[in-house]
Amino acid sequence: MIMFAAIAAASAAFAAPMLIPAPREMSVTGGRVALAAADAPKVEVVASIPPEGYELSITTNAVTIRHSDDAGLFYAKATLAQLRADAADASLPCLEIKDAPAFRWRGLMLDESCRFFGKVTVKKLFDLMSRYKMNVFHWHLTDDQAWRLFIPEYPELVKKCGKSGSHEREVPPFYTEGDVREILAFAAARHITIVPEIDFPGHFRAVVRAYPKFACAKGARNAMCVGNPEAVRFAEKVLDRVCELFPSKVVHIGGDECKAGPWAKCPRCMSLVRRENLGGVKGIQPWLTRHLAGHLAAKGRRLCGWEEIAVGFGKPDARGESNNDSSLPDELLPPREVLVMGYHVKPGAKSANMGYDVIACPNWHCYFDYSQKLPEDPYLYFRPDIRWLPFEAAYRFDPYEGVKPEARRHITGVECCLWTSHVWSVPELEWKVWPRGLAFAEVAWSNPDPAKRDFAEFSARAAEHRRRLIREHVNCAPLK
Ligand SMILES: [Zn+2]
Repeated sequence: MIMFAAIAAASAAFAAPMLIPAPREMSVTGGRVALAAADAPKVEVVASIPPEGYELSITTNAVTIRHSDDAGLFYAKATLAQLRADAADASLPCLEIKDAPAFRWRGLMLDESCRFFGKVTVKKLFDLMSRYKMNVFHWHLTDDQAWRLFIPEYPELVKKCGKSGSHEREVPPFYTEGDVREILAFAAARHITIVPEIDFPGHFRAVVRAYPKFACAKGARNAMCVGNPEAVRFAEKVLDRVCELFPSKVVHIGGDECKAGPWAKCPRCMSLVRRENLGGVKGIQPWLTRHLAGHLAAKGRRLCGWEEIAVGFGKPDARGESNNDSSLPDELLPPREVLVMGYHVKPGAKSANMGYDVIACPNWHCYFDYSQKLPEDPYLYFRPDIRWLPFEAAYRFDPYEGVKPEARRHITGVECCLWTSHVWSVPELEWKVWPRGLAFAEVAWSNPDPAKRDFAEFSARAAEHRRRLIREHVNCAPLK
């Protein structure tokens, strides 16, 4: 019996710690060091360590961090914090870690147009994102439902911003410039870049409620009148404000799900088609994307948009209610410098194969508003359009699916997305993000190759992290 206990203790000493995301290289060397050694680790700068990377060495007499940039030091400390949480007794296992991310963009999108959650919730999310080494917060601030960012030149946008409720009832359901600066500082301290999204030319109903003159005609609410120079100036001025507020190199302009129907009936839009030789209504959105890409590039920023900016939307229908035509000549397409967010496998892969840099967020692996197929789910309502994304599907995400070998370098990041038209509360938000966010974090940082992943091994680590999240009152869903 004593002998078995000794073997169990020895194997526990050599067991790999429960880290998420798993380090790229880790060897447990045996022996332990008192927890106090981690209070004041020795820190060395080593220029050859890649950006955001670090080395962590724990021996029986010292804890040493090596890094080349501030983010690397931050992530080394994040790993150390997980090791501390893992420590059953007052000691840490001796080990050597060499770590660096697979992707530089490890994003999470939150839709605050449909539902306004407010800064307390957003900050709590940042704390958890940074713990799991996620570093981009894609902030969906405008959509049909509501406009959430105060723009001084256009105050009606937030006054008539819609009925979607606030979860911080004491504050109005939008962000002031002061709020944004506060949230930016909180994010920066956690090495999180905030990429704002302001939608043009589709998902425009909130704008049209406040300023009907920016639509093609009365009743044509779902798209901006691209042929109206005043509407284009509106887009430029809003983006100017966004660039003043947000330091992010990348600015997201949406660009998804825009039907061309109103444009075909609008004299100003059809006049633009003739003047700019756009080859028909299908050339209108690419013209706007090129225009705004140039406007942002003049400010040193890079335009990002959903996959439609490269491959169009939907299938052409009898009413011409589609702008889909990925056979557009190159001069009509946005420049290859823009960044494309691929939210379906094929269009995302196609964009990469066309030479665009792509952030992969295919819906069946990364849309965390989809339900998790749990035996008991308090947030499963009757919905005619219910879609499933179990925890395992989040883990089986292959960012390179459909991408030609020579285009793999164009997959420059990955992102998980939380649309909120069916997310009603903060506990539900947490339930939808966790534990699937753990699976996403592991793919994004440690292992983009699904063939090299071990779901059973990962699930054991995730179960432990779920216990920790629940101890911290995060409403984490079961794994299955
Ligand atoms: Zn128009």
